[in-house]
Amino acid sequence: MNQSPASKVSEKAIPLKEVVITLYEAQEKIYPRSIFGYFTKWRWVMVWLTQLFFYGVPWVEWGQRQALLFDLDAKRFYVFKLVLYPQDLIYLTAILIISALSLFLFTAIAGRLWCGYTCPQTVYTEIFLWIESKIEGDRATRQKLDESSISAKKLLKKIGKHSVWIAFALWTGFTFVGFFTPIRELFSDLTHFSMGPWDTFWVLFYGFATYGNAGFLREQVCKYMCPYARFQSAMFDDDTLVVTYDEARGEPRGRRSRNVEVDTKELGSCIDCSLCVQVCPTGIDIRKGLQYECIGCGACADVCDTVMDKMGYERGLVKYSTQNAVNNNWSRQQMLQRILRPRVLIYTAILSLLVIGLLVSLWVRTPFRVNVVRDRGVMERITNNGMLENVYRMQIMNATENTQHYQLSVSGIKNLQIELEHAEANKIIAVKPAESRWVVVDLEIPEGSIEPGSHKILFKIKSLEDKETVTEKSIFLVPR
Ligand code: SF4
Ligand code: SF4
Repeated sequence: MNQSPASKVSEKAIPLKEVVITLYEAQEKIYPRSIFGYFTKWRWVMVWLTQLFFYGVPWVEWGQRQALLFDLDAKRFYVFKLVLYPQDLIYLTAILIISALSLFLFTAIAGRLWCGYTCPQTVYTEIFLWIESKIEGDRATRQKLDESSISAKKLLKKIGKHSVWIAFALWTGFTFVGFFTPIRELFSDLTHFSMGPWDTFWVLFYGFATYGNAGFLREQVCKYMCPYARFQSAMFDDDTLVVTYDEARGEPRGRRSRNVEVDTKELGSCIDCSLCVQVCPTGIDIRKGLQYECIGCGACADVCDTVMDKMGYERGLVKYSTQNAVNNNWSRQQMLQRILRPRVLIYTAILSLLVIGLLVSLWVRTPFRVNVVRDRGVMERITNNGMLENVYRMQIMNATENTQHYQLSVSGIKNLQIELEHAEANKIIAVKPAESRWVVVDLEIPEGSIEPGSHKILFKIKSLEDKETVTEKSIFLVPR
């Protein structure tokens, strides 16, 4: 086939070249500088509070059992006084919805304070960084150590750091599993080297996840793995609290000596020391404006305040503020007045309704649950003594901490006789604390005493201790 002169020219003019486009961006390790200040103090308060709760609560006892235990094997959730069954899933769902809505509300008002102060990823990164700085030294020393060639001193520090990290991570994994398996038994199994394979797997799994996320991945988790970081912008508006750099005051930035008077027209308050970048756990420069990587930890605000103090300038070049407050130069009072805006009021109203609904339903919740099912394996039949019998299976779940006794009565049909299989004397059914029990119930009527068909009946189960009654509807079948 003949080619046109033009195509020959273009083939010659463009040499074929292999172009590699890499989708992976190599990350530079971040060495956050240690910082002390108002927000850092609050961050450590939150680290202590969350960790005291996490490591302490599984050891708290309530009567003869663990106070907070999600016992998956026994299908029971113990929340202090409350005992929840899988049938109570509605309460757990409500708690999850309330938690999610609270996060929405909190984010609309205060931005990413959850990320900066209480998120486990931030908290564990903070702890791991603290261990790292205690063993390897501050930012500059750590950087030098990493750049230096291998030596006995370097090896010793690295082994020391990783050993403490691993021990801490394993204890974290153990504690986490202790929320699902009674922690005292788990501890006894651990000390006797007799922990079950699944418990061992989950301890190692969560331990490894803590070690990897807080020791190595750190800000990568917030930037690339956390879904909350992605959808939070939908909850932000111009009145949401964020860490901001006051550009009007700070620019034009420039270095200067401490005691040199500057012409405020030539230089702003930012002395371009870059300390705000050095302390940032996600390695960003807040002076470039709000970025999705910012977790709102306030470390840059703390360090900038110390710089402003040293320079004798007013604090707050980097501070928590809102976009509207910065743009319109609002006072703190004006900024706070915007908290009660429609979005916040709607979230608050829904949240209040849900919380009230949950509390009321927990308040009126009967301390036992009952399920009655017609035994489909047994057809209605005529017994030897001329009675027509229907068989039911009844499950009673005792959601209290004491053995309870229940009395059964059935209404809806005249002359109905009740026979209970495997029940105690006087047709009383005893159920142990936080346990459930199945009982077979035979209902009998004299044959021919009612018309053929389906007849509605009502089971009434009364707790003899609590005097509470639960009713369950069912049907009694009479064959033609
Ligand atoms: S810490 Fe403050 S003064 Fe220093 S570079 Fe950052 S914003 Fe400027
Ligand atoms: S920019 Fe400031 S508030 Fe945001 S993550 Fe970095 S140090 Fe924390």
